[in-house]
Amino acid sequence: MPEEAQSGDVETFAFQAEIAQLMSLIINTFYSNKEIFLRELISNSSDALDKIRYQSLTNPSCLDSGKDLHIKIIPNKADGTLTIIDTGIGMTKADLVNNLGTIAKSGTKAFMEALQAGADISMIGQFGVGFYSAYLVADRVVVVSKSNDDEQYIWESSAGGSFTIRPDHGEPLGRGTKIILYIKEDQTEFLEENKIKEIVKKHSQFIGYAIKLLVEKEREKELSDDEAEEEKKEGEEESDKPKIEDVGEDEDEDKKDEKKKKKKTIKEKYTEDEELNKTKPIWTRNADDITQEEYGEFYKSLTNDWEDHLAVKHFSVEGQLEFRALLFVPRRVPFDLFENKKKKNNIKLYVRRVFIMDNCEDLIPEYLNFIKGVVDSEDLPLNISREMLQQNKILKVIRKNLVKKCLDLFEELTEDKDGYKKFYEQFSKNIKLGIHEDSQNRAKLADLLRYHTSASGDEACSLKDYVSRMKENQKHIYFITGENKDQVAHSAFVERVKKRGFEVVYMTEPIDEYVVQQLKDYDGKTLVSVTKEGLELPEDEEEKKKREDDKAKYEGLCKVMKSILDNKVEKVVVSNRLVESPCCIVTSQYGWTANMERIMKAQALRDTSTMGYMAAKKHLEINPDHSIIENLRQKTEVDKNDKAVKDLVILLFETALLSSGFTLDEPQVHASRIYRMIKLGLGIDEEESMLTEDAPTGEAPAAEAGDGEDASRMEEVD
Ligand code: ADP
Repeated sequence: MPEEAQSGDVETFAFQAEIAQLMSLIINTFYSNKEIFLRELISNSSDALDKIRYQSLTNPSCLDSGKDLHIKIIPNKADGTLTIIDTGIGMTKADLVNNLGTIAKSGTKAFMEALQAGADISMIGQFGVGFYSAYLVADRVVVVSKSNDDEQYIWESSAGGSFTIRPDHGEPLGRGTKIILYIKEDQTEFLEENKIKEIVKKHSQFIGYAIKLLVEKEREKELSDDEAEEEKKEGEEESDKPKIEDVGEDEDEDKKDEKKKKKKTIKEKYTEDEELNKTKPIWTRNADDITQEEYGEFYKSLTNDWEDHLAVKHFSVEGQLEFRALLFVPRRVPFDLFENKKKKNNIKLYVRRVFIMDNCEDLIPEYLNFIKGVVDSEDLPLNISREMLQQNKILKVIRKNLVKKCLDLFEELTEDKDGYKKFYEQFSKNIKLGIHEDSQNRAKLADLLRYHTSASGDEACSLKDYVSRMKENQKHIYFITGENKDQVAHSAFVERVKKRGFEVVYMTEPIDEYVVQQLKDYDGKTLVSVTKEGLELPEDEEEKKKREDDKAKYEGLCKVMKSILDNKVEKVVVSNRLVESPCCIVTSQYGWTANMERIMKAQALRDTSTMGYMAAKKHLEINPDHSIIENLRQKTEVDKNDKAVKDLVILLFETALLSSGFTLDEPQVHASRIYRMIKLGLGIDEEESMLTEDAPTGEAPAAEAGDGEDASRMEEVD
């Protein structure tokens, strides 16, 4: 290339592998909706303008390099180029190298995977790689950029795995970025004025900075007599020159004079900037005058989403404090909602129509981080910085209002069952996180929860529905947490509660464990876990008496079992929750449930030290109506130290652990116990020595193989 030959300071860089892959995908995939490239580039320019605007709040001198913030589009048919210029923050040499090609982004891979899964190229902006959409229409892209912090540089690439960077000694930009697209031969429609106008109107009408298009116009120009004479002469020689209008012979003098003036005009071509997005900011307009389509267009331009929003709330607050806001609920969770450090682009803050900043975190709590929108305050100072915002009282009031409006909006959504189901599928985690975090709005958020229950059938229901179905004598809301609906529905814990006609709420998302840590009651009814100690079911006199009797009858067995299991369990007690199972493991009120223990064990980076004191504290409950338990009782009455009893008790305990949702630390020990039982069942004679060798029938069962080292360490910490 000539440039390279001329100058020694051209540097060549290889694109990061995934970016190179993405570029060739963009170039080679057949895709007809190419026009979205312009939306992406305009959106990048708008971001760059936002950045310099934000910087200028605290450092006004950064605008010394140019105060007018705008975007300009210049089509040039003769050269076959489309140029987009912004007076934004610009890029330093390092920015050009990093942002446009060498630093890997999570979105690159995610976008390619999404494409493979049938996503559309127009979704590119959501994945943070919108710049490369330029290659939908251009085979060569040149980016000239000037940041306040560096000299002017040129980035250039015709794809193919590499790009170059060189210093630019040409026309200075002042500050900002100029992107020159060398339009592919078959894409020249994007050089047409009307086409560009149409695309900008469709995708970028709500951009907050003026988008100017350089348009060609024609006007009549008056010529002086001399010029006219000159023109006439030349006109005779060159026929393609503009013609001076002919004059008729037989017109009267007056008219002749008039025409004489006209006669000296010429059609002249000139260019002019035409502003393409003169629309008033949508949030300042009256909600009644705005169509759903307009909201949709605005939402898409705000978020880069390719689909319309799911719901919108447009409101203003007046009085002591004034602001307008427009809040949207998207249709889907973005691919990186819960990814830390991601660039968020959620609520834009304006002050009296002037853009202040993107993603103002202090405006909305973390659990509502999926809400997109705009807030325009009348009261905040224009020069407010992020640091000042944290302390700002006005902002706190705005935030409170936004949360309230969001909750109102969600509540409205519940009126349409199917619509709400869609919302809930996407954002139930956020609602639940809200219950955990936002004590003030906990009750309202609890109304939004939906769960399957033992009585709800195929559809999930609200806690309100549950309460409306509660039995007369029922005081509590019963729930169980676990891995999935099937598992909890068939769990031993649910048996009696269901049999007694009470409904049990099935909570099967990991985050539900955190919900019930905070949500102690709903509508005045306590939430009671059926897997924790102290489950009380309403009972009549007869039942009460039976329970007392059972307690007395099995007291001895409980003691024996506790001494066998020793510190594996905290207590052994008679149960009131079992029907068909001989026993189960419940956990103490304040420790983890089995489900929580499972979740915590699954967290790769967990700090093992907390496992100790938080690990589920286990109580063994025995079923007095079960033949196994009754049989054991009889055996221990005869001989407390019966060896077979010890082995059976441990086996029962381990089996109860499993059926109650715990994992065994040493499953192989449990397995060998089972094999022995099978042999026994088959009447295979086992040698005594074999039994004593590997069976935990010694004096102190807990210290033996039954539990792993971990478990005993856990118990010690307790
Ligand atoms: P995204 O804009 O979503 O981060 P892009 O691939 O579109 O992803 O752009 C990559 C980065 O390049 C941007 O984050 C920004 O830092 C920089 N960039 C792109 N266009 C411009 C521009 N017109 N002015 C300044 N920086 C820009």
